[in-house]
Amino acid sequence: MTGITILGATGSIGVSTLDVISRHADQYRVVALTAHRNADKLFAQCLQFRPDFAVLIDDQAGKRFADLLKDSDLDTQLLMGVAALEEVAALADVDYVMAAIVGAAGLLPSLAAARAGKRVLLANKESLVMSGKLFMDEIKKHNATLLPIDSEHNAIFQSMPNDFSQGLEQCGVTKILLTASGGPFLQTPIDQLKAVTPDQACAHPNWEMGRKISVDSATMMNKGLEVIEACWLFNSQVDNIQVVIHPQSVIHSMVQYSDGSVLAQLGNPDMRTPIAHSLAWPERIDSGVAPLDMFEVARLDFQEPDFERFPCLKLAYQSMQAGGHAPAVLNAANEVAVESFLNNELSFDKIAEVIELTLSKVSPSGAFDLDSILDADRQAREYASQLTTSLRS
Ligand code: NAD
Ligand code: MG
Repeated sequence: MTGITILGATGSIGVSTLDVISRHADQYRVVALTAHRNADKLFAQCLQFRPDFAVLIDDQAGKRFADLLKDSDLDTQLLMGVAALEEVAALADVDYVMAAIVGAAGLLPSLAAARAGKRVLLANKESLVMSGKLFMDEIKKHNATLLPIDSEHNAIFQSMPNDFSQGLEQCGVTKILLTASGGPFLQTPIDQLKAVTPDQACAHPNWEMGRKISVDSATMMNKGLEVIEACWLFNSQVDNIQVVIHPQSVIHSMVQYSDGSVLAQLGNPDMRTPIAHSLAWPERIDSGVAPLDMFEVARLDFQEPDFERFPCLKLAYQSMQAGGHAPAVLNAANEVAVESFLNNELSFDKIAEVIELTLSKVSPSGAFDLDSILDADRQAREYASQLTTSLRS
């Protein structure tokens, strides 16, 4: 049996992961489940999967969970706090860790899984955006395995030659073609973007996701974070990554080779496919996803991204070109701005403005270690919070 910890079990990726695992109860055992504050949902998951540990961050939620536990026959032990996330990511009887916490909060627990030499199933792209080389070095140093859950990166991984870590040029890869749906505002007149609501931004045409990543998809910051994520995962230069808008979300990304070949991975837009792929790799298991019906798909469209419509995408490219702590600053400013937008405090078009101004003001230099990354994150949050207050609509 393969032991699994799911960080962020109550979220969209966490729930899809448990769905795949429930189809293969003879192969996978859930050792730990974690959540921020949704005690009732976490408890229901514990009743079904009977893990050894459950972790919550919020104290009130912890009390609620403890009450539920008292009246049940569960042997699950409740742990509280951030240190407990790191603890359950590194337990001896855990083989795989699904890193599916949203945002910078996922960095330390994902790193803990890497340092414990686990198979890390990485959905939490923000941690790689923040810590890039440091994260990849820890994976290598501790003999961990890193498999991408992000559908595009999972598709790229499936379309890469086995020995891609030797260097893309050596194995004939000339470009990574990163597909993007373009989100809900691909056709919206640009002057109407300032008035869009959080619910409109979260109504993604093809994917059902958590609210933060849904807003990121609407601004295309999600694609920007994914460009940075792809650079680290595949050791690629940022200029070798071309974003391709493909509104149907059927091709999940492509790899172009020097002989003119383009390899792609296709499928219905359902995260259970990359999740099942990374759980079973190098084998294949059933994911519960319906087979792709090409006649129903009928056509595939492509267009170039428009940086004027999607300034966040441009800012992400620029931050990766700048290097150092810039991607961590970009990520932190984005998290602050998106939260403020979701709370109806900041208009949609101001998200990019907050990020751009933060990038121009916060530029820590010096050694690129964990402390300095966390410090860059803190500084950027502080500055971006002040900005969102002054830019409030
Ligand atoms: P979500 O909001 O649905 O779930 C987030 C999970 O993280 C929840 O379990 C929540 O309890 C937990 N969490 C939130 N804040 C926390 C904190 N401060 N400390 C500890 N736990 C915390 O998000 P999601 O859509 O499942 O996305 C999770 C991650 O996967 C994100 O990094 C996202 O970019 C990435 N991702 C998601 C999808 C998708 O289809 N949903 C696709 C690709 C990548
Ligand atoms: Mg993605």
